[in-house]
Amino acid sequence: MLNNLKNRILVVGAGISGSVIARYLAEKQFSVEVIDKREHIGGNCYDYLDNNNILIHKYGPHLFHTSNSEVINYLSKFTEWVDYRHKVKALLHNGAYVTLPVNQETARIVGHDNIISTFFEPYTKKMWGCSISEINPQILKRVPIRDDLNELYFPDDSFQKMPQKGFTAMFKEMLDHPNITVMLNKQFNKDSEDNYFHIFNSMSIDEYFNYCYGPLPYRSIKFHTYTIPVPQILPCATVNFTHDGPYTRVTEWKKISNSATFHPNRFKTTITVEEPCSYTENGNERYYPIKDANGINYNLYIKYKELIQSNMTFIGRCGTYRYLDMDDAISDALDLVKSFCKDIKN
Ligand code: UDP
Repeated sequence: MLNNLKNRILVVGAGISGSVIARYLAEKQFSVEVIDKREHIGGNCYDYLDNNNILIHKYGPHLFHTSNSEVINYLSKFTEWVDYRHKVKALLHNGAYVTLPVNQETARIVGHDNIISTFFEPYTKKMWGCSISEINPQILKRVPIRDDLNELYFPDDSFQKMPQKGFTAMFKEMLDHPNITVMLNKQFNKDSEDNYFHIFNSMSIDEYFNYCYGPLPYRSIKFHTYTIPVPQILPCATVNFTHDGPYTRVTEWKKISNSATFHPNRFKTTITVEEPCSYTENGNERYYPIKDANGINYNLYIKYKELIQSNMTFIGRCGTYRYLDMDDAISDALDLVKSFCKDIKN
């Protein structure tokens, strides 16, 4: 019985962090149960084919880019890749498209003094529901202004590719192991905790602790998806809006190169427009932890963190209340599960 319990692991959430941790522990001969309240694996990376064979990312565009060779080698065990370098244009009020992040050419067109008011102020207000000065400056540093003519959205990453058959297929492969059982449409039940040696939990930590210190704020996105009877419509995969709102950006899925794997309809295209909102206005779908400039929200997270019991580790974006890129989420999950295994050996 003791041996049995020592071997049993529960992973709450079949997203990036949960899937990486489950696979690693399965290979170490743990018996791993993965549950997810949604009807699919892959977390917010989940992608699917629409009726026109166009690969849609259900929770907004996820573009894989990294310079971390450990992450590349790890994921390459579960997928082939196709080259894809993401480009984004901003749509100006006069209908012209300019490159984002702002480069030399974009700055010349709008004027240096207008960069913040054109590209950052309205978008940030829509995205975060507050002004630029109220969010952590690190958030804007994700799209740094450049003094060259580079046109890539992620100019500095050496590896920019998409999983050939999509993210869902990649995570399906990762979770396909005899020591892993995946159960979908299944909520976490606290009463089952004693059945496991350890639980890796990607739910929002405030929810787990019944909001005893109050809710942690998150932004969410409402996705509006349309199929249009034209072969293509945008100048690149994503166009960001500079107007006052309520929409931030639109993505044309066909333009992301792994869509070609599935022979999409030549005469139709599918686009998704994003409308940010609070998570409470979107069925409690938590997408972005809000890093406020004064760190108030993160301090609240730290208070919750102090309540965590030793047989549970909170993981991922909601469990650790961090705005994580995919490669960082994978790298962190690998580090965490390795140190977990090392600790139990000692
Ligand atoms: N941002 C902006 N204007 C843009 C693009 C980004 O003001 O045209 C700001 C905005 O605050 C956004 C942040 O930069 O939330 C990060 O942008 P990114 O494209 O990395 O967001 P993600 O793809 O993670 O939603």
